Amino acid sequence: MGRAFVYVILGGGVAAGYAALEFTRRGISHRELCIISEEPVAPYERPALSKGFLLPEAPARLPSFHTCVGTNEERLTPKWYKEHGIELVLATRVKSADVRRKTLLTATGETISYKILIIATGARSLQLEEFGVNGSNAENVCYLRNVDDATRLVNVMQSSSGGNAVVIGGGYIGMECAASLVINKVNVTMVFPEAHCMARLFTPKIAGYYEDLYKAKGVKFIKGTVLSSFEKDSNGKNFVTKVDNLQHKIACAGSLLGVPCVVTDVVLRDGTNLPADMVVVGIGIRPNTSLFEGQLTLEKGGIKVNGKMQTSNTSVYAVGDVAAFPVKLFGETRRLEHVDSARKSARHAVAAIMDPGKTGDFDYLPFFYSRVFSLSWQFYGDNVGEIVHYGDFSGSTFGAYWVNKGQLVGSFLEGGTKEEYEAIAKATKLKPVIKDVADLERQGLSFAISV
Ligand code: FAD
Ligand code: NDP
Repeated sequence: MGRAFVYVILGGGVAAGYAALEFTRRGISHRELCIISEEPVAPYERPALSKGFLLPEAPARLPSFHTCVGTNEERLTPKWYKEHGIELVLATRVKSADVRRKTLLTATGETISYKILIIATGARSLQLEEFGVNGSNAENVCYLRNVDDATRLVNVMQSSSGGNAVVIGGGYIGMECAASLVINKVNVTMVFPEAHCMARLFTPKIAGYYEDLYKAKGVKFIKGTVLSSFEKDSNGKNFVTKVDNLQHKIACAGSLLGVPCVVTDVVLRDGTNLPADMVVVGIGIRPNTSLFEGQLTLEKGGIKVNGKMQTSNTSVYAVGDVAAFPVKLFGETRRLEHVDSARKSARHAVAAIMDPGKTGDFDYLPFFYSRVFSLSWQFYGDNVGEIVHYGDFSGSTFGAYWVNKGQLVGSFLEGGTKEEYEAIAKATKLKPVIKDVADLERQGLSFAISV
């Protein structure tokens, strides 16, 4: 039993939505394209989940943030897919793939075959258990990857109002969720192993600015350590006393048997005990590549593609978080975990599939951004080389450049205008030669504007 399509997109996230839009713009017939997604809803703008979705007043809810509203394009509601003859196979997990036979087998037992496959399976949240800590199944421990997670997070957050949250991880999820928790009147302690937040991107000086602002909002930071265990309660909060080892063991055994369990305290490696009404975990992701291991070439934890987003099998493309693609600007293969890259790589793959003669190699300028409280930053390029800070770090507009081998390769700006962000993007793409970093520091933002 099965169905056959010309094009199949495996995964129904950001990249799938943008690919669908591109297919319709380029002209496909009804019933040529199918999207298979484990999620029960049509593709949506995932970034909304840690921002508008968590607001206490007028929160964003579907259908308002279906793709492709994030780039002011059409909003692709289920009705839109229907009108365009695109088959949406939702709430359906693909459990195996055979790229030689060009088939996918769903968990419901259906075989779906394709001529061209686009892999857009994104990534999953890393679980604490992968770091040797049990407790992810506790009722008040939250991860954030999809709408179900976000709905659960909102419920737990509302029932923790006035209480304490421990946020594990100082990356994107940690920083954005901590801000949302504060806005929802939950007291926040952030715990992460590095010396400062957003350690993979921010310089200590940039991180200091955001940490000071968070501290002013009441957030506490515990750095340079990780959690070692949870204290749990299987029958109402604080039921298990910290010294009652037997009760604790019973509670944990209960959670293994599926009996609901609640975390009451977070215990850190240095022995510190943090009382917690809820825990948010954001400790990174793993790309969903497992269906294709042994069938396609992998690199950097993702599926390796060429400049056309084509994998080692010519009928299979990969886009978004799962794809490791050549970044021309850096002359090396990278896997990026950001929405702009998902949107653009998806559109590029469709262009390469539908119009191979006119589609060159993907020429992408990496772009990351975040919005927390009333702050908003953007980063373009690569954060390698010498760092040149500029602007007023006691005010609201400041930034940094990265200069590598005598060229500008990366630019960060907080509090810029649309034109200023466009200017740093353009300057970074052009990689101008920097002869004098002291002069670059003096010029600051004016340098990018003048390039
Ligand atoms: P996803 O959007 O994750 O979609 C993957 C889809 O594949 C999912 O629907 C999944 O269920 C499905 N799937 C996976 N395996 C299977 C299977 N076997 N069978 C069927 N379906 C399957 N980036 C930014 O640049 N800025 C932001 O502000 C920002 N905010 C974010 C906030 C949150 C809470 C999260 C989680 C991410 C955020 N990101 C942000 C990152 C951005 O959302 C991702 O880079 C983007 O979603 C990647 O798109 P994708 O289509 O590759 O993967
Ligand atoms: P990140 O990779 O951004 O951050 C993970 C953080 O957790 C790092 O600080 C990491 O430290 C730390 N960490 C790792 N292991 C542990 C541990 N055992 N205990 C405590 N801390 C630990 O991932 P996130 O989970 O924050 O984000 C998930 C995905 O969502 C990413 O792909 C991200 O790009 C995306 N996202 C993007 C947003 C944006 O672009 N604005 C917003 C929200 C999500 P270390 O660096 O040492 O490993």
